Amino acid sequence: MRTLSGFGLSFTASLLIGCSDVPLTSKNDNDLIQKAANWCISGGPIYTAIDTNPTTEAIVVTDGVIEYTGSSGGGWCPHPENRHIDLKGGTLYPGLTDGHGHLLGIGLREMTLNLEGTASIEDLQDKVRAETQAKPQDAVIYGRGWIETHWPEGRFPNKDDLDAIATDRPIILERSDGHAVVVNSKALELANIDANTENPFGGAINKDSNGTPTGMLVDNAANLISELVPALTEERRREAYIRGAELYASRGWTSIHSMSVNPNDIPLLNNLAKSGEIKIRVYNSLDIPTDRTMQTMGLDETYENGLVVTRAIKLYADGALGSRGAALLAPYSDDPENEGLMTLREVQVEAFLNTALRNGIQVNTHAIGDKANRYVLQWYKNAFDAVPKSNWKVKDPRWRIEHSQIIHTDDIPLFAKYGIIPSMQPSHAIGDLHFAEDRLGKDRLAGGYAWRSLIDSGARIIGGSDAPVEVGDPRIEFYAATQRKDLNGYSNENWFPSEKVTPQEALKMLTIWPAYGAFTEQTIGTIAVGKQADFSAFNTDIMTASGPEILESQPLFTMVNGEMAYQSKNK
Ligand SMILES: [Zn+2]
Repeated sequence: MRTLSGFGLSFTASLLIGCSDVPLTSKNDNDLIQKAANWCISGGPIYTAIDTNPTTEAIVVTDGVIEYTGSSGGGWCPHPENRHIDLKGGTLYPGLTDGHGHLLGIGLREMTLNLEGTASIEDLQDKVRAETQAKPQDAVIYGRGWIETHWPEGRFPNKDDLDAIATDRPIILERSDGHAVVVNSKALELANIDANTENPFGGAINKDSNGTPTGMLVDNAANLISELVPALTEERRREAYIRGAELYASRGWTSIHSMSVNPNDIPLLNNLAKSGEIKIRVYNSLDIPTDRTMQTMGLDETYENGLVVTRAIKLYADGALGSRGAALLAPYSDDPENEGLMTLREVQVEAFLNTALRNGIQVNTHAIGDKANRYVLQWYKNAFDAVPKSNWKVKDPRWRIEHSQIIHTDDIPLFAKYGIIPSMQPSHAIGDLHFAEDRLGKDRLAGGYAWRSLIDSGARIIGGSDAPVEVGDPRIEFYAATQRKDLNGYSNENWFPSEKVTPQEALKMLTIWPAYGAFTEQTIGTIAVGKQADFSAFNTDIMTASGPEILESQPLFTMVNGEMAYQSKNK
């Protein structure tokens, strides 16, 4: 193993990267830094994400920019000093972008007990027991990522399950969707929650038939234990962003559209990119601080600093389908009194949207139900009509609807017609479709996760994961988009298999379309001369692989601006 100091990364002398022309040892550190972004790459399929020219054989990168793509015939690599990458049959793609994730949450998940994939209450207990044994006696046990929908016990976990592990310190375990926590008796006691505690606004303290709290705290009730959760200090936020970005590079992502970012974190993120502690691109969509109204937000500037770009605002128009919070045009099929809830009204956002248009702010609004989607499409359209085009700071504002999950089939063409981008998470579909038919009935599912119909109507879909709600793995998103089956291969006709997309379309959902959705399609998103060298390499050709093979594919390296953000240690 050889370490290249100054390059910021340990390179194994693997088969993958050979230096046939100039041995690495002949270069001093300064040369290596200067030459770090100069590469000649060949030896496996290279997909460009360009329809007219979908593959190429070889790439030359100079100073982090693609100088050549084409044949790997004689003389293709004219710079003997460039470092060579022989893909050895591995496959290269344009840098993959997660078009909707929460980078802070992704990092925090790595720093706390990770309960993703927990298979049962017993499994949950085993994981918590191991954590209590590993942590100091007085540490709060805090975990995140469980979801009970497939557990054999068929019920929520409760305080008794956790008291069986420990009663001398708080145990707090957040459900993967962030909408509920389960805690033990100690946590209830420290937070003064008992049979007499009333539900807070927008939350529920679940109680058994005797009126005793079960330990499940839903939505705003979770705030009652917030003082017990480790504080989000600057140091913890910093570590979370670094670990989240590292994890993402190792999974093959070169870029993330980070949602619901606290505006106070932007200087921190800019500094981490400047210092090289974050090596992937981060496109921020800011949460509106609660202590300011939308109308008085400082909208007159966008922030830019190298890898980190901030020019968008995130709004929320409704809740989620699983908890029947998504706003529907007609009642839920399995709850006839309930149509879900809009969490935003036009009167609240009208002035904000008009101001955003004048100031060049991209607006990204969460909308799950068909009513929320219809309303947000209309609000956007109303703003486009209200502000004279000559006053739009950005002529092509590319406003987005995050999730765009359930759309009335009449509304599908409106995305392309108004220039609004659906930003969708394939992994949500293969999870939700297990219960979506109960909620909606078959007919409404015709406009559910309607990738094929949206693309056919002319829309560009931004693909993403919504991690840490989902895993945040490009293989899963690509698999879900192209297979429309769950990870065990299950699907049925009410999942509308015809709404799946082709491998080329799935690749565009993770490359050029998110680039377009972040105003960067001129510089990244495809492999073409003049673009930045952002690449994701895997050991499998996922464009031709079977579903199971896609999920087993391994990332080889991740390159951003011609610099290695990650390299596998496996040969
Ligand atoms: Zn999200």
